[in-house]
Amino acid sequence: MIGDNLQRVRARIAAACRAAGRDAGAVTLLAVSKTWGVDAVREAFASSQSAFGENYLQEAVDKMAALRDLPLQWHCIGPIQSNKTRLVAEHFDWAHTIDRLKIAQRLSEQRPPGRAALQVCLQVNIDGSPTKSGVAPQEALALVREVAKLPHLQVRGLMTIPEPAPDFAAQVAVHAKARALFDQIVAAGGPGLDHFDTLSMGMTADLEAAIQAGSTLVRVGTAIFGGRPSP
Ligand SMILES: *Cc1c(COP(=O)(O)O)cnc(C)c1O
Repeated sequence: MIGDNLQRVRARIAAACRAAGRDAGAVTLLAVSKTWGVDAVREAFASSQSAFGENYLQEAVDKMAALRDLPLQWHCIGPIQSNKTRLVAEHFDWAHTIDRLKIAQRLSEQRPPGRAALQVCLQVNIDGSPTKSGVAPQEALALVREVAKLPHLQVRGLMTIPEPAPDFAAQVAVHAKARALFDQIVAAGGPGLDHFDTLSMGMTADLEAAIQAGSTLVRVGTAIFGGRPSP
């Protein structure tokens, strides 16, 4: 069933790329496996999915330990408190939710020697939502430049979680703001920004709009694994 769901999500991504005049390979699928067990991840892996996103750090680390036999890539997409940076630095390949220099500095310091640089995106509060984390859009470039100086991080792009929008056009409009900011940062450039190529936006409900606006990575949970029990 997870395999069928993955095929449907891949078809949605391919159709959205076609509709936007983009290459089918322009968008990466991150399977968001939070709250789901190791069997679900194994099933997805059997259908050629190898990148997984997790929000809850201890749950994620336990899952990684049980799945060590598989060549998986793990992305932290949940909030990172400063007392939890070590779990992220030691276990994840990517972190999408950097919104303060202090967190980035701790991640860089705590990245184990010999591991590849942690790949990071800055979370941007693109719609100015008062409840959301994320750096303000006008402060993003300065933070990107500071994070780019850290030796054990590789800054890869931006990530957003906009408030649900009422229709497709409204979804595209907010995602387009993120794309414009991303393009501005790429154009500004600077040291350490040569791998700035990732715009992490779009989930089950709005992945078509995100791809229309220029997302390069969609984070999809429900459409792959099913509905999560409410906490
Ligand atoms: C849970 C979550 C997702 C996946 O959401 P779905 O609606 O289940 O696709 C994506 N991104 C983040 C940051 C999440 O917390």
